[in-house]
Amino acid sequence: MATNTQNTYTYYKSRYNKDQKGNPLNCKYCDTQIQIGGAISFKPNASGWKYVHICTKTSCIAECISEFKCELSLKEFIAREFNQNAPNPRQCNAQGFCTFPYDQNMLTVMRGLGGKWNSSRKGWQMPMEIGLRENIVTVLRSANFEIDGAFGNLEQAVMGDMEKQRTEHLEWVRSKGLYEFQIGGVEWLLRNTVACWVTIWAWGKLSNRSVLSREMAKVV
Ligand SMILES: [Zn+2]
Repeated sequence: MATNTQNTYTYYKSRYNKDQKGNPLNCKYCDTQIQIGGAISFKPNASGWKYVHICTKTSCIAECISEFKCELSLKEFIAREFNQNAPNPRQCNAQGFCTFPYDQNMLTVMRGLGGKWNSSRKGWQMPMEIGLRENIVTVLRSANFEIDGAFGNLEQAVMGDMEKQRTEHLEWVRSKGLYEFQIGGVEWLLRNTVACWVTIWAWGKLSNRSVLSREMAKVV
């Protein structure tokens, strides 16, 4: 007859897949090697040091529940931590700021990627340089981070950068007092050619508006 006794343990998502000697940690029931973050670990006996690791297969969970009489607490943990609809706890926003639940391995990864710990915001600021971005995004993605497109989509990030430069150039042109139709021409050039950067640069050296118009007439 089933007993009402329920054990409650402190479970966590497995943080290691090897023991201190480097041997693989296996599921107690099916013996497959457990995955970091993809298995459940807990200590059934407070006075002992031995942890139990189980994978998330239905049959293994069922065996664990019956052996340790921990149905309620284990089901509650699984519903909370392995819920497909739960928000991804690993996030990287548009500004390259990363947050995630404590994970020793990820700290090393973040440092390796050039991240800087922000203690007041409790997260990691990744470098924003476009040149480093691809590597950072690849690593974060493989570590299951949900990455904002403005940071993770390289093409979008590069375009964003170019758009910013373009806006700065247009502001400069406006500050020189060009008429709107001329600005339209400059904008068209900025959007459509590479050679125009050189031309714009040359214009920058001309302060006389009539010379500028003449130059514009040659190009357009
Ligand atoms: Zn298993």
